[in-house]
Amino acid sequence: MSFSKDVKNEVARIESEIACCEKAELFGLLRMSGSVSLKGKGVGIHFATENAALARRVLRLLKSNFSVQTEVVITRSRRLKKNNRYQVQVMPSAEASKALGELQLLAMPEDGRLKLLGKPCCRKAFLRGIFLAGGSVSKPVSDYHLELVTDNEDLAILIQKVMHGFSLPAKMTDRKNDYIVYLKEGNAITGFLSVIGAHNSLLEFENIRIVKEMRNKVNRLVNCETANLSKIVQAAVHQIACIRYIDKTSGLYSLSPLLKETADLRLAHPEASVAELASMAEGNIGKSGFNHRLKKIEQIALEMGMDEN
Ligand SMILES: [Zn+2]
Repeated sequence: MSFSKDVKNEVARIESEIACCEKAELFGLLRMSGSVSLKGKGVGIHFATENAALARRVLRLLKSNFSVQTEVVITRSRRLKKNNRYQVQVMPSAEASKALGELQLLAMPEDGRLKLLGKPCCRKAFLRGIFLAGGSVSKPVSDYHLELVTDNEDLAILIQKVMHGFSLPAKMTDRKNDYIVYLKEGNAITGFLSVIGAHNSLLEFENIRIVKEMRNKVNRLVNCETANLSKIVQAAVHQIACIRYIDKTSGLYSLSPLLKETADLRLAHPEASVAELASMAEGNIGKSGFNHRLKKIEQIALEMGMDEN
């Protein structure tokens, strides 16, 4: 299974706790790959995907926010290894028209007036919808690459703007009839995965990335011992898992400023040795002092209830 699919399967199962975010996510999902269908006098909504979890999510979000009548058509592929196709349809009705209006699907309004994306929580949910419907990300084995593809230029500009709001250095390009908003840097991709709530995928991404960057480093420093290296990799992986756990549980701002700085440096430089991190820290701190701070962070994560494994 591809890494994109892992990420989608993870975020398609996130329970959204806040009602405002559900509409923002639907807006992202349907703007990205939904369409408006005209049947007789009324307008309906149509959304197609090969991902069963995503089809269920779209259906649930539609049903819990609007009292619309829906239908799901599954087209089974006769070819081997081809996926089924799920088509979620909202039947034309007054309520369907209301949904189209509220989700601003008929026209792209000026983004200043976009009520749906007023809050940061909703902007995160919007990006989750965008990724689910039209995103892909490669495993960091070869290249770092995450992209969101749409044929609508205004939507691409909006996506880029929302990403910039989360300090994600998104760039844009076009390919044939599509606009592509993309990220090309490891830290930016982990930042995006964190924003859309893909915490497990993020850890997997980071594990592969640390091993890869360590390997590159070893190729440069030929006389480094392999056994020693794998210990360093494991320590870094564990430290990052602890920091992510604290971030998820009570936020990194719950740490003291010194520990927060330590955590930020570790996340920003997953492949760096403790001595290198110490040299980047504020003030005059040595390798053992910095190591002590990392141990303190690991201890805090354990006290918060993180699983040792
Ligand atoms: Zn919200």
